[in-house]
Amino acid sequence: MTVQVAIDLALDRLFEYEVPAALEKKLAVGQLLSVPFAHRRAQGFAMEVLPVRTAGNYKLKAIYGIVDEVPFFSANVLTLVKKVASYTISPLETVLRAAVPAAVMRPGAREKTQLFVEPAQSAHEAPAQCTARQKWLYAQIVRLGGGWMNMLARELKTTPQSLRVLEALGLVKIAPHARRRDPFADRKILPSRPLALNAGQAAALKEICAAEKPVLLYGVTGSGKTEVYLQAIAHELEAGRGAIVMVPEISLTPQTVQRFRSRFGDMVAVLHSALSDGERYDEWHRIRSGGARVVVGPRSAVFAPVSKLGLIVVDEEHDTSYKQDSVPRYNARDVAVMRAKIEGARVVLGSATPSLESWRNVESGKYAIARMPDRAGAGKLPGVGIVDMSEEKEKGIFSSRLLDAISTRLERAEQTILFLNRRGYSRAVICASCAEPIMCDACSVAYTYHKADSCLRCHVCGAWRELPRTCPKCGAAALEYRGIGTQRVECALKACFPDARILRMDADSTRGKNSHDDILGAFRRGEADILLGTQMIAKGLDFPRVTLVGVLNADVSLNMPDFRASEHTYQLLSQVAGRAGRAELPGEVYIQTFNPDAPAIVSASRGDFAAFAAQELQERREANFPPYCKLATLGISSRDQALAASWSAMCAESFASFSKNVPGFHSSEAYPSAIEKADGWYRWQIVVRSPTQAAIAAAWKWFSSSRPPAKDVRLVIDMDAYSVV
Ligand code: ADP
Ligand code: ZN
Repeated sequence: MTVQVAIDLALDRLFEYEVPAALEKKLAVGQLLSVPFAHRRAQGFAMEVLPVRTAGNYKLKAIYGIVDEVPFFSANVLTLVKKVASYTISPLETVLRAAVPAAVMRPGAREKTQLFVEPAQSAHEAPAQCTARQKWLYAQIVRLGGGWMNMLARELKTTPQSLRVLEALGLVKIAPHARRRDPFADRKILPSRPLALNAGQAAALKEICAAEKPVLLYGVTGSGKTEVYLQAIAHELEAGRGAIVMVPEISLTPQTVQRFRSRFGDMVAVLHSALSDGERYDEWHRIRSGGARVVVGPRSAVFAPVSKLGLIVVDEEHDTSYKQDSVPRYNARDVAVMRAKIEGARVVLGSATPSLESWRNVESGKYAIARMPDRAGAGKLPGVGIVDMSEEKEKGIFSSRLLDAISTRLERAEQTILFLNRRGYSRAVICASCAEPIMCDACSVAYTYHKADSCLRCHVCGAWRELPRTCPKCGAAALEYRGIGTQRVECALKACFPDARILRMDADSTRGKNSHDDILGAFRRGEADILLGTQMIAKGLDFPRVTLVGVLNADVSLNMPDFRASEHTYQLLSQVAGRAGRAELPGEVYIQTFNPDAPAIVSASRGDFAAFAAQELQERREANFPPYCKLATLGISSRDQALAASWSAMCAESFASFSKNVPGFHSSEAYPSAIEKADGWYRWQIVVRSPTQAAIAAAWKWFSSSRPPAKDVRLVIDMDAYSVV
């Protein structure tokens, strides 16, 4: 018998080992093995067990042993891992690594043990020679059913030594037990009962339980999607099956987890980057052993070792954080759908603003849909006003209408959220006179300004032009780079409202471990009047006293050099707007923009996703962009500027030649990335579009096998790339 092993260090290939006869019965796929590798001891996963050797004619080495007999991966998850590796064109071991938390694999990672005191089974009554105090202690320990030595001693106002005396008397047993490191140990969570569902929720639940394909749960913010998830999970648990709930990392707050914990208690495990290594180790093992049947976590939770998986929920399925931006570049939402198919489980994708991929899958009948158009609890969808900034008399950050609205809130002691999505380096060039960004002729995206050579580049087709002196549309010499950040807004706010209490939340203000929770907690407790922030504040937060939301510059997102700019703008705007009027107080939203007619803005202000999706999909179809084709980017980078350029050209040529053989295959010219030089690396990009993933994978394979060895050049492929910049 031989076994094929994926070794963490080895580049995308399996190694075959002999299995010693003594281990043959115990060996199973998915187990972690210890093997000899290059004169060292290495660890690897058993991928395939074979009755006879397949490797060439040399002497096979034997494995040293099985590190853990309980497999780390079920056969189903191994199948999934292989599929993800092949779909994303990533080395197998990188997917394996992504699928198990590092905290579990770290050498020396183990359970924590502590001394546990429990009544000795034989002893029923304390013997006569005991003191009254000892008899009392023993009675208490029986009453409590035992406890951790230190805590017990504290609680009974005694010492560990006294407990040892009870042990010597044969009354109690003291032994080390595994002590779970519980991320919720210090939190009191009250149990919650299922709510009576409203008609929309009941219909959605029915659809989810009956569907034989993935279900898109399309429900506005506040429509009560979480309650539907909870009840769908309850069904699965009753039937003896488990569930995975995926949420974007940023909304994986204690608040979110609490909703699941309060319904299902200890049955819920969390996988979260903020956990300590010990907590993560224990939570993962609780899942693998079946102690926890419901997993709540971000992207990587899609690989959680839940056995008898019944349901996967992907909340905010459109969220870009589901796409990992390092190898393996998987999209956890798509992996969830793959896993559900392999496991025969249900999958629910929930969103108020579905991705156009999922929306299209509903249109084509691949997915079912359940709609919840109304808010569940108190609160109505807010009124949304579009403010055309080109009509403002005084050019500034705030329109007069927004300033008035903020003043009113301050007078009424209600709260305001101001939103400015000023992440990203690439700026559009906009004409201050006609308010138009300079657009690529061939694509519906704004050019990106490249400072190094002062030119404009399209990041979709690679076209470029020199930076004009005047606006190509209206001829005015009034071209501007847009760029106001949250910090500048904070200063301006303080100047306008010297007495207002302002909190700022962005990547800079949330560096500390708890700062994220601290800021939101302070705002929730009413310790501030205005919360100002980037997209961090856009998601899943529920503040009853917020009655005003202002979007300071919707164009930041709209003018991103990305074919998904419109889609992301729609999502962002409707999510931000959803923050207002969550409770009894009516909400109001202002969107400031220079593009008051942009479909994304108009539709978002009306909450008309269907209209937006129809128009955007039509444009995507005409321009041949996803979801009507597969799109991948090739990244070429080198520390040597000339090498980066020449490799990019060669790469582009090879891929272009491939397009001759495959109808619909299109690859762009090579162009420098928006950040042309990062960390000393010169970076180039090529965008490839094709009707199928397979054609792109084939082109990559052919290219990889025919090119010269890539010395000093890094090549990466990003299948279903999210950001094309
Ligand atoms: P979503 O996830 O769709 O944005 P939530 O699940 O957060 O919505 O629900 C919004 C609010 O409505 C929550 O405060 C929730 O407790 C409440 N809610 C949900 N379902 C019901 C129901 N059936 N009856 C009353 N209140 C509900
Ligand atoms: Zn273009």
